[in-house]
Amino acid sequence: MKRYIISILLVFTAFTLSAQDEDYFDEAPEPGVLTRVFGGRRYTIEPYVIERCPGAIRVAVDTIHTDDKYVDVVLFDDQTWDYLHHARPGIDSTLVFDEYWSTEDLYVYRKYPASQIPETVDLLLVDENHGYCVPIKGKVTSKYRVRHSRPHTGVDLNLDTGDTVRAAFDGVVRCSCGSRETGGYGELIIVRHSNGLETYYGHLSKRIVEPEETVRAGDPIGLGGSTGHSTGPHLHFEIRYKGQTFDPERIFNFETGRMVADNQFTLRKDYFSIYSHSGQTDAESYAASQALYYKVKKGDTLGKIAARNGTTVAQICKLNGISSKKVLRIGERLRIR
Ligand SMILES: [Zn+2]
Repeated sequence: MKRYIISILLVFTAFTLSAQDEDYFDEAPEPGVLTRVFGGRRYTIEPYVIERCPGAIRVAVDTIHTDDKYVDVVLFDDQTWDYLHHARPGIDSTLVFDEYWSTEDLYVYRKYPASQIPETVDLLLVDENHGYCVPIKGKVTSKYRVRHSRPHTGVDLNLDTGDTVRAAFDGVVRCSCGSRETGGYGELIIVRHSNGLETYYGHLSKRIVEPEETVRAGDPIGLGGSTGHSTGPHLHFEIRYKGQTFDPERIFNFETGRMVADNQFTLRKDYFSIYSHSGQTDAESYAASQALYYKVKKGDTLGKIAARNGTTVAQICKLNGISSKKVLRIGERLRIR
């Protein structure tokens, strides 16, 4: 029995050793050494050592990805290769404070077409000089979801009136607005961060920062309250990218006060859907973002709804977890895709 286990271990070790991907570099090879063969051709390192004919032009013939998504290897027609470094996301960009900036317009990115946002955006959230802080540590009492058939585009965090609300990241205060201007948000602070994110802090009893003021993560920016559309003291907290909201619980665990996202967070476009939230896999999130809902009208039957929307009764029942004999109520929402 013992010998049997050992031989299995040996086979397993041999397999892992041979399973390394040949098209990736584990570390930078030494200049000037004939190092690797790609597609049956040998490539040496350029431009450190190899003497080249003055004025010779080499033509890139292929690009190979490395484990680091910001570094590729370019292969040239003269059998040399070189690193291609792409710009890494940074935190110190000042550009985000020049464009689409307004201290009065809550939704200044309204004019920014969502179609311009790439499918994925890499955001550096924290580094050695820029930290984070949950605005208030506590229970999430309402999540980023559809609530009473309306999208709730942030999280509600439990607090007592007068509790200190803090800036989530370093940034510049874009808006410090009173209840009269913000409608449902009540007394509201908006902070813009240099990676392009904005955070919204609503229902405050008091705002203690001014527009254009620079804040550090953890700086007090207001006191918790229940102003605007609110049934009791809580903080309504949103995170937006170019005006688009996504689930703040993708970034923070508000109960522990810890960041749950990696320092470098990959924001996917489907996260902007209200049906896409933390706890889903990316595949589930994407599927949820493609969801389509139908509001039941007078005279509707499952058969009619299915026919009109190019689907089947069975599919609607499966998506909504209902029986085909279910009695429909007018105004009820059914997922049809
Ligand atoms: Zn809320």
